[in-house]
Amino acid sequence: SIAKLLVTAPEGLSAELERAIDGVVLDCDGVIWHGDRLIPGARAAIESLRARGKRVFFVTNNSTKTREHYAQKLNALGIEASKYEIYTSGYATACYLRSRGLAEIDEGEVERGEHGERLGNDAQRSAYVIGERGLMKELEEAGIDVEAGVYDSVKCSERDWEEMDEWSDENVGAVVVGSDSKFTFAKLAYASLQIQRGAMFVATNPDAGDLVGPGLYPGAGALVNAVATACGKQPEIYCGKPSSFMLELLKDHANIDLSRTLVIGDRLDTDIAFGKAGNAALTALVLTGVTEIDDVNAWAERAETDPAAAAALPDRIVGSLAELCGLEF
Ligand code: PLP
Ligand code: CA
Repeated sequence: SIAKLLVTAPEGLSAELERAIDGVVLDCDGVIWHGDRLIPGARAAIESLRARGKRVFFVTNNSTKTREHYAQKLNALGIEASKYEIYTSGYATACYLRSRGLAEIDEGEVERGEHGERLGNDAQRSAYVIGERGLMKELEEAGIDVEAGVYDSVKCSERDWEEMDEWSDENVGAVVVGSDSKFTFAKLAYASLQIQRGAMFVATNPDAGDLVGPGLYPGAGALVNAVATACGKQPEIYCGKPSSFMLELLKDHANIDLSRTLVIGDRLDTDIAFGKAGNAALTALVLTGVTEIDDVNAWAERAETDPAAAAALPDRIVGSLAELCGLEF
């Protein structure tokens, strides 16, 4: 089968790493850890990549925690990392909103008219956030004014809806939707109203859900689609994978050359599609996460007729990150 042909030799990708790669971008869950458990060999693999002079970066679609949180988590697992080596869909969303002018600017930079009035509305507008505290913290750190929703815990009957006008804020410039375990009907209604009024609609990541415990636990994509259905508009961007936006940020912030970058992940439709969309030099699928070799074979068959599937076929398949580095675990 196609997938079996792609599985690498026992020495891993050593020769290719040596010759063609300067930067390695790692997905987290399913590659480095499962929840709070380190995947065997992942720490040694990252050390070996660094010892060979590779720059290592960590990406995750999880918007609920800050980069600082992930740096601490990696450190606690014995892996050195600073927040500047970590890219989350939440941080990417903050960068996107800044690029769209939605951030407070220093008083010295405020543009003023002849009577001292503030010009440029964008800089004063806030973001209404459906998401966890970690997402709000990343946005605030980027200078974005996050609206605290008084309506977050209230119900919203049709009658409440008619009055929502009074407690709605004209100043909302963007609605951000990410994973939120306290998602409510009132949040849905408020977000929908603001988008109908012209606020930008920005999504952190499209993940439908994550298979944990008894079944699929709803992901950010489920909430984004609820809002999209309610207001009749699609988000202008999903900042997380498979969009190449986080790779473009990496290129701009860390000055990495994507044509010498390897992207490693455990999912075809997000991680591998992400690497391909960003024109990374090489993509590698590991089998320590959600994808099994039979899934790749089925995917490869689909890819013969479906261009979207073809765009997410990995260049290499390895058992684990350790195996990719030629380590035995
Ligand atoms: N979003 C949430 C809320 C998650 O819990 C997870 C996985 O744990 C993800 C997204 C996907 O994360 P990753 O891109 O690291 O696989
Ligand atoms: Ca993953």
